[in-house]
Amino acid sequence: MTKILVIEDEQPVRKMIVKILKRQDFAVIEAENGVRGVQMALSEVPDLILCDIQMPELDGYQVLKTLRQNSLMATIPFIFLTARAEKADFRAGMELGADDYVTKPFTQAELLGAITARLQKQAAMKQPFTQALYQVEEKLNELANSSVSTNEISPERLALEVLLRHALAKGEFQVYYQPQADLTTGKIVGAEALVRWYNPERGYISPAEFIPLAEETGAIVQIGEWVLLSACALASKFLAAGFSDFHVSVNLSAGQFADPELSAKIIKILQTTALPPTNLVLEITETSLIRDTATASATLNKLKTLGVRIALDDFGTGYASLMYLKQFPLDTLKIDKDFVSNVTRDPQNKAIASSVIQLARKLNLKVVAEGVETEAELAFLKRYKCDFIQGFLFSRPVTAAELENMLAENKCLSFPDFRENRAEVIPFSAPVKTEKSENGSQSQQK
Ligand code: C2E
Ligand code: CA
Ligand code: CA
Repeated sequence: MTKILVIEDEQPVRKMIVKILKRQDFAVIEAENGVRGVQMALSEVPDLILCDIQMPELDGYQVLKTLRQNSLMATIPFIFLTARAEKADFRAGMELGADDYVTKPFTQAELLGAITARLQKQAAMKQPFTQALYQVEEKLNELANSSVSTNEISPERLALEVLLRHALAKGEFQVYYQPQADLTTGKIVGAEALVRWYNPERGYISPAEFIPLAEETGAIVQIGEWVLLSACALASKFLAAGFSDFHVSVNLSAGQFADPELSAKIIKILQTTALPPTNLVLEITETSLIRDTATASATLNKLKTLGVRIALDDFGTGYASLMYLKQFPLDTLKIDKDFVSNVTRDPQNKAIASSVIQLARKLNLKVVAEGVETEAELAFLKRYKCDFIQGFLFSRPVTAAELENMLAENKCLSFPDFRENRAEVIPFSAPVKTEKSENGSQSQQK
């Protein structure tokens, strides 16, 4: 069933449109303002959007601009509803990527005519051949503008790169969320957003494979922005539902720091999704900062003044960790899973993990231990008073809907009897939420 989102602040007009559309057997969802409209577009992914131009706070132009930056929303037909039939208004909307206009007051036939025309055009676009042509054209444009010569790119990489471009337009990305639990209360305090790419021909492609490629081609800027927007919209929804302290952590990579618009974009995303800055954590790594430390530091300081929190990811695996502790406005250290793994048996890991926790405490930073897979590791971290954990023992990365269920059910980390000699053998209830592995079965390993 074709799903249409109606964004209109005037209730009588909105109700009338909804009635007309329902009579034609469309599935209709409605939003009473622009902010809500953006949230619903991201969570419901409609087939077509009808949107009023004049609305308080976020007007129709801003709604369109926000959605068109998002790869998933980039191709959804968008029709403006306007009371003013002025040429300048038309042009402004078309430049932002609107597909059509319907001027108020309109007849039922005018409205349905515009919708049908757009849906037909969209269906033609989706034909594999048209799509392939579109891709090749895009690819050629891009190569023409790129300084990299084609013979330097291997055919396999080129093929993956074409798929990556395709993925952006086709909405093949999804954001999964891995919950983080408080080691004192056991409660879920937040989640890390982790991007997933499912391609119908290739199956799941790991972020470890496509993030570096996205970095090289510059696609990371768009992908990263889309992840941020999706994650902030979800966190905002959870806060509105009463999960008051929930924060979302989003990974930032080097290519995003090279974007001079980064802080402005993040501020805009926070406004659009109505997420308080303190509920967003940006995860940075040493490698994401090294390209231009001065610019990265300025960007992070600006965001920090707004209240956004900063976590240093994969701590200890880079080359300049201690210097970075002084240079960047950090709130949190994430102990890399390489150090957490087997922490009770490996004397080096034990020394490193406990020292990082002590160091963080002295610097007034919080500590998240990543990749916690066993009860013994959990017991160790609790004993050393680590603040939060994240790992397969508690939960794999899950979909937004699964995370919502976990919060609604108040799923908590259980602490079995942690007396040292028993820690390894005490049974622990298996994590209930799972992520599908590449072959579609429940994966046991990462
Ligand atoms: P990361 O930021 O260090 O993310 C943690 C990775 O560890 C995730 O892998 C997660 O699935 C995995 N993990 C979590 N708990 C466990 C555990 O108990 N055991 C094991 N073995 N693994 C665990 P994932 O999702 O494959 O992501 C890999 C990397 O790709 C991430 O490492 C991050 O650097 C990058 N990445 C993922 N999503 C994004 C994104 O949206 N933007 C950017 N820039 N990078 C991303
Ligand atoms: Ca991370
Ligand atoms: Ca990490």
